[in-house]
Amino acid sequence: MNTSATEPANALRPYILVVEDEDALGTLLQYNLDKEGYRVAQCADGEEALMNIEEKQPDLVILDWMLPTVSGIEVCRRLRQRADTRNLPIIMLTARGEETDRIRGLDTGADDYVVKPFSMIELCARVRAVLRRIRPGLAENRVKHGNLLIDRVAHRVKRGDQEVHLGPTEFRLLDYFMQHPGRVFSREQLLDAVWGSDVYVETRTVDVHIGRLRRALNVEGDEDPIRTVRSAGYSLDV
Ligand code: CA
Repeated sequence: MNTSATEPANALRPYILVVEDEDALGTLLQYNLDKEGYRVAQCADGEEALMNIEEKQPDLVILDWMLPTVSGIEVCRRLRQRADTRNLPIIMLTARGEETDRIRGLDTGADDYVVKPFSMIELCARVRAVLRRIRPGLAENRVKHGNLLIDRVAHRVKRGDQEVHLGPTEFRLLDYFMQHPGRVFSREQLLDAVWGSDVYVETRTVDVHIGRLRRALNVEGDEDPIRTVRSAGYSLDV
């Protein structure tokens, strides 16, 4: 398990799902987004994409318009109907002339669209722009929520005027919560995001680190910002 404060932590790296059935383009996207510091997964059809998203919600989806099984537009529509994915950032990919007018109107529910062929520089810029607009917590170095402030570059946390000292795991936990304030995460989801899915850690470990995070954040007279949701998990509520 990597708990070094200097290594890029999993929770600091936004997770992007690429849904593209052209192998070469999918691979190229994956390679470039990985190089930009994102965690990337790829799938090649709409049904698989929906299952993937259900299992592990990405921070952003790059979604091809024409896909086997379920089309990109249908995937987008279904994601917008679900409460938990209603605000999930989506960038649509489309071939030139392929219903671009409809996409341009964005009645698909997508946040942005990119017309093929596009440069990777352009696509990465769009990804950054959408993340900044929709999830500022993912793109900014300093994120404030309630009276909590996290500075990712300086690796510092403050609650009100008070400096809060956190271990590397507690820092990543808090960072992850601050990317999604108010959202309830199960222990498994937190393990996956903060420790990484390739690491075997017992779910009880999450409780231990939540406990430490709570104690550290428990500045005199302030309310506990971490809410325990019975049989569901934890969320940040300030
Ligand atoms: Ca396609």
